Amino acid sequence: CGITACVATDDVADTLLAGLRNLEYRGYDSAGVATRNGDGVTVVKREGGIDELAAKLDDADPSGRLGVGHTRWSTHGAPTDANAHPHTDCEGRVAVVHNGIIENYADLRSELAARGHELTSDTDTEVVPHLVGEALADGASPEAAFRAAVERLDGSYALAMVAAGEEAVYATRNGSPLILGVDDGRRFLASDVPSFLEHTSRVVYLEDGDVVRVTADDHEITALDGRPVDRPVESIDWQP
Ligand code: GLU
Repeated sequence: CGITACVATDDVADTLLAGLRNLEYRGYDSAGVATRNGDGVTVVKREGGIDELAAKLDDADPSGRLGVGHTRWSTHGAPTDANAHPHTDCEGRVAVVHNGIIENYADLRSELAARGHELTSDTDTEVVPHLVGEALADGASPEAAFRAAVERLDGSYALAMVAAGEEAVYATRNGSPLILGVDDGRRFLASDVPSFLEHTSRVVYLEDGDVVRVTADDHEITALDGRPVDRPVESIDWQP
């Protein structure tokens, strides 16, 4: 299973796909990507391998200068198209990818269902975009909505999110790996360095509790409460 993300100045769908291929060694049963284009979010996902996803991407041809990608190793819900990541909120304004397990997902699901949310997958993950969507509907910014959702989660996770109309990817981790890749005018996120190593060997190892806002030429790391966190950019000498 794996997460990849890219924020750049031109279309990222191919880069996301390549980033997922580089994580295939981790094992997976489904794969998908979401790109943000203007005021919308496009999700292309399916059960099966990267080649099957690539064929679907050829047809959909999603544009977008930022996006997230996922290879899924199912823990909650069978390997199906509907359970593949990214997952979205009711309005399809945010898309989230997740590695790990949300331990309190059953409580969150019933809470959301009681408030009228229709969840369309059997995953633990889907509660996250719905919590974000709810905060957005209450007027929160995408960043504040992401933090509010993450605050509700128990369990292990690496999470990355794109939101309609927002020029940044948001991500966080707790007990699952997440690494930032720093290139000139381009940023990456991944669960492991080989995902983006062909582009850059300048990395920031994120730590549990870090929240990162990533744009093409900048990244900002804070604690969940918004306190700034300083993490060094390291040049790594990695032999693939
Ligand atoms: N628990 C999530 C699911 O089953 C994520 C699994 C993963 O880490 O790939 O969809």
